[in-house]
Amino acid sequence: MPRLHDLAKQVIDRREWDAADLIDFMLQDSKGKRRVPYFGIKTVRLATRWLHELVSTLRIEMTNYKIPVDSLIYRVSCRLGIIDPNRDKYFGEDSPADLKIQSFVKKIFPDRPYILDEPLWSTGRRAVDGGHCFPQNPNCYGCLFKNICPKKFVDINPEKLGMDTALTPVQRKRVPTPEERAIKERQARFAKFVEELKQKGIKGKEYRKKIMQWYREHQNK
Ligand code: SF4
Repeated sequence: MPRLHDLAKQVIDRREWDAADLIDFMLQDSKGKRRVPYFGIKTVRLATRWLHELVSTLRIEMTNYKIPVDSLIYRVSCRLGIIDPNRDKYFGEDSPADLKIQSFVKKIFPDRPYILDEPLWSTGRRAVDGGHCFPQNPNCYGCLFKNICPKKFVDINPEKLGMDTALTPVQRKRVPTPEERAIKERQARFAKFVEELKQKGIKGKEYRKKIMQWYREHQNK
């Protein structure tokens, strides 16, 4: 926390930044050492966007901004045909997939490349969080990109094919708590419910109504 506080003061002191310079500055000091523990490239890019959007006293030139690529963005980008997981591998900044995704968002919104960040990752979230593009069997009903998406690689989990998992931290296995088990069971029930709606061809207003009703009925269970 003290290091984060110190970094925030330095950022505010300068007032005007270029997004690419700010990202470099927040990421590492002049000796190449990380300034704040766990403040890696993805978090730093996200912080830059939030500083731009929320801190009115700062002026950040965002045309050089790069969106933070994670498994959600990677997956949705594959389904949208922006990248091909067989060819465009992701193993960090400037890897083939990173370059293609960044150049795509810049082409669509040259002055505001950060605009596509949220729609992409929020589409890749779990059903309970309002997402649609799941690792398997995406639910295209109600998806923001439904009318333009070529729906590629829907039969596989593209990030398993194209993301270098060796670069992501090893997750230690542990026994889930009863609360975590309950959440997982609820998620599975919800996914099943969504699948049933899909099978019945329910969409649009009725789909949203049924989803809200399900939430109300299962809120405290
Ligand atoms: S339309 Fe379907 S495949 Fe395309 S991004 Fe949305 S959920 Fe994924």
